Amino acid sequence: MSTTPEKGGISIELEHIFPIIKKWLYSEKEIFLREITSNACDAITKLRRLNSLGEADVDLTGARITVQLDKDASTITVIDTGIGMTEEELKKYICQIALSGALDFIQKYEGSEADAQQNGIIGHFGLGFYSSFMVSDTVDVITKSYTGTPCMKWTCTADGEYEITDADEDEEAMIGAFGTAVIMHINEEGKEFLSDYKLREVLDKYCAFMPEEIYFDNGEEHECKCGHDHDHDHGECDCECEHEGHECECGKCKPINDTEPLWLKNPSDCTDEDYKNFYQKVFHDWKEPLFHIHIKADYPLNFKGILYFPRISNEFESLEGQVKLYYNQVFVADNIKEVIPEYLLMLKGVLDCPELPLNVSRSYLQNSGYVTKISGHIVKKVGDKLTSMFNTDRENYESIWRDLKTFVEYGCMRDKKFYDRVSSSILFELTDGGFRTLDEYLEAAKEKHENKVYYATDITSQSKYVKMFRDEGIDVILLDRVIDTQFINVIEQNKEGVKFCRIDAEIADVLKADGDKTELPAVADLFKTIAGGMTKVEFDRLKDTTTPALLNISEESRRMNDMMKLYKYGGDLPMEQTLVLNTASPLVEKLTSLLDSGDSERANVIAKQIYMLSSLSQRQLTADELVAFLNDSYDILGKL
Ligand code: ADP
Repeated sequence: MSTTPEKGGISIELEHIFPIIKKWLYSEKEIFLREITSNACDAITKLRRLNSLGEADVDLTGARITVQLDKDASTITVIDTGIGMTEEELKKYICQIALSGALDFIQKYEGSEADAQQNGIIGHFGLGFYSSFMVSDTVDVITKSYTGTPCMKWTCTADGEYEITDADEDEEAMIGAFGTAVIMHINEEGKEFLSDYKLREVLDKYCAFMPEEIYFDNGEEHECKCGHDHDHDHGECDCECEHEGHECECGKCKPINDTEPLWLKNPSDCTDEDYKNFYQKVFHDWKEPLFHIHIKADYPLNFKGILYFPRISNEFESLEGQVKLYYNQVFVADNIKEVIPEYLLMLKGVLDCPELPLNVSRSYLQNSGYVTKISGHIVKKVGDKLTSMFNTDRENYESIWRDLKTFVEYGCMRDKKFYDRVSSSILFELTDGGFRTLDEYLEAAKEKHENKVYYATDITSQSKYVKMFRDEGIDVILLDRVIDTQFINVIEQNKEGVKFCRIDAEIADVLKADGDKTELPAVADLFKTIAGGMTKVEFDRLKDTTTPALLNISEESRRMNDMMKLYKYGGDLPMEQTLVLNTASPLVEKLTSLLDSGDSERANVIAKQIYMLSSLSQRQLTADELVAFLNDSYDILGKL
């Protein structure tokens, strides 16, 4: 027992530590609260373990951590009912182990300040007890071991002078039978934490799922649901007003954390409602997620988590998700990009990875085989979830497919493994509603157009073609996002023989009719003059006699042009096109007879209109083309 204060000097090391701590962990200084609170949590957990091993026999009902804010005294105090420390332990753990831990940490990262700041994550781990000095002038530790040794007080100032004395009565009363109180006398740099709001915010961020109950005491009156302030000990207030619900909602009566977060539970014990509530609570997103994945990976990966596929309501919304990383229920960091593959970064969720080393740095994460395996496991789980939804609840799967597909397609483009996992659950939307997998589509198309998938990119401007295909019983799929047309390249590379073909790329055999397809040279010449040099003129016979001509652009050259546009290499260059004249059309017949009879003026007017109309049913006209087309049309009306 210390009858006279024991003084010590750890000034050399502390002199060394404090400037560094303050300089480059500046932006991370809020982590002191996580470090001190998680120590408190560990202290209770250790005692539970000793109890269960039979090495201690203490009553742990009501075990708790209390974070107290005293604005008048400028202190933040973290009190636990944990294992406590004897005088020897205080010297060993706080003066030696904690100090050398902090020194190790700093030595490891000294000289890499820029790196440290850039990789904010470094500040998330391992500084431990001494991080309290980032925000404190003086730190007191009042502690009493569960073994019943006297209550001790350790006081250390930021210049490294410490003193160990017996705690006085008031100090001892702070902690009750056993446990520890860490009193931080907040300095100028830590001032912002002397606000209820800020302190609660930091506690909510780091401690929301710590495994022991945490209470927050800001020194204010209790606040009951009924709205009246009343003095009461714990739980219910003694107000006798008529309002319902007198349970107290304040942090003194109700723990601010959830000690058994959903990710620790067995998926079979969790309801959809549980997952939804957890999502809303953690991400404050009131839109229901599309689905969730509960991961419990055993040895050797050993991590748990819940990932949600969020509902993205509009295109302006940020697509960046939020995956919170925990270390045994202690928050570490948001959005660890290295753990989640880039194409799944819109996921929201929590991952608890106790296997990650404490002094984790971004470069470690980037080069770690373990992290690669976690990431691979997540990809596998997402793939499995998609296929299982597809197999077991196709209706629901179809209803969310439009929200999923961009990510699935992008994922398939980035990662062959992901493609292999999900390829059989990729859906294509038909232009007239409904969804097909590629295999279903090809199966239905086997007779009429084997291995060929017809698609439209714009249901309105290509409606003429769509109708022709539909009339012949051919399904046309809709690929109306830029990524869709990139994605079909992936399928073509992986599915031998399958070709995607836009409906205006060629005339499908089923649209063709038998009969005379004789070339009409005079008609061909007329159209060549009107359409210009990039247009080839051909003749064919279509079942649809109402259409005199169709403009086709080959799939290859259109895709090439799309690519150039996408990557801004010029783009919109004039493309070679084929004007297919329909010999079954009465209008084409009429043109022939007009030319035969020498009425080239009328033939010219009709041919020009046919050309413009065929362009119009395939694409948007340019401004000049549209003006000319409208003027010509009015002229024709005038002549009728
Ligand atoms: P770490 O927690 O990583 O071991 P710290 O610097 O945070 O490092 O703490 C050093 C040691 O001090 C702990 O391992 C523990 O033995 C002791 N300690 C710190 N806080 C408490 C506490 N609230 N109760 C009991 N022991 C504590």
